[in-house]
Amino acid sequence: MKKILALVLTGIMAASIVGCGAATETADAALSTAGAAASQAADVASSALEDAGVDTSAVGEKVGEVSSEAQSAITAALSSTALSDGTLTVGTNAAFPPFEYIGDDGNPDGFDIALINAIGEKLGVKVEVQDMEFDSLVTSIGNKIDVAIAGMTVTDERKQQVSFSDPYYEAVQYVIVPADSTIATADDLKGLKLGCQLGTTGNFIIDEIDGATEQTYDKAIDAVNDLINGKLDAVIIDKNPAEVFVSKYSDKLKAIDGKEFEFDTEDYAIAMPKDDTVLQLGVNAALELLRTDGTYDKLVEQYIANYSAD
Ligand code: GLN
Repeated sequence: MKKILALVLTGIMAASIVGCGAATETADAALSTAGAAASQAADVASSALEDAGVDTSAVGEKVGEVSSEAQSAITAALSSTALSDGTLTVGTNAAFPPFEYIGDDGNPDGFDIALINAIGEKLGVKVEVQDMEFDSLVTSIGNKIDVAIAGMTVTDERKQQVSFSDPYYEAVQYVIVPADSTIATADDLKGLKLGCQLGTTGNFIIDEIDGATEQTYDKAIDAVNDLINGKLDAVIIDKNPAEVFVSKYSDKLKAIDGKEFEFDTEDYAIAMPKDDTVLQLGVNAALELLRTDGTYDKLVEQYIANYSAD
């Protein structure tokens, strides 16, 4: 019971931070925490508290406040240029499993696609996904597409051109090498022939490696094939796709955690027109509702934890 009460209090405290009118970003983060904590608290606690004869209406009110705030952010977002036609046009690069790939029916599928469809549902708009080169996503936002979801890492450079939603997944670059390779540290990468997908954070890392010969590809799998054929010494690519690609050729390749090379962790987020704050708040509210109602965890389980490479 003590634990339940503590949970309830956390929810109430987190919810009340929102009311303080701190800087927008802090309030956003607090709103997100508050939503999750308050609703989780309410779920776990309400029946137990009622059994104990405790008045639960205060908790209910706080939960209501948080989700009604999310709801008004969503309503406001519908007036954004992006959503005014009732359709969210989404760009992706469907060659990045398990986040996006071409499904059995020939259309883009994967965690990101499921997530953006669920966001569209919360926003009450239709979602249309377009498959394009990763490197042209950022410049297509606001003209060919409304937003991009593509395992895209938030970077300061990209923030000059687009705004990002709250992060939805943490990643890190991995290094794929031949199974018998002795490459193990950042120093070992110097002067090597290194492959990556054009315009990705793996590409930006290779740019900084002394003496490296850089080979860029439109599709990461083509870099992996060149590694298998002996044309490259290593490929630098995000963790989850690295694991998927290596699992297909585990006799020939191995994937090494970028932490061994001192690579920073990265955050994936949805990219959207720069400074379209109403759209951004609406997407963040939808994301928050999906975390709160368990959809987000379900999608992680379905698409990431249970991804099968064939
Ligand atoms: N996370 C990397 C980036 O944002 C790679 C994304 C991708 O290739 N789809 O640059």
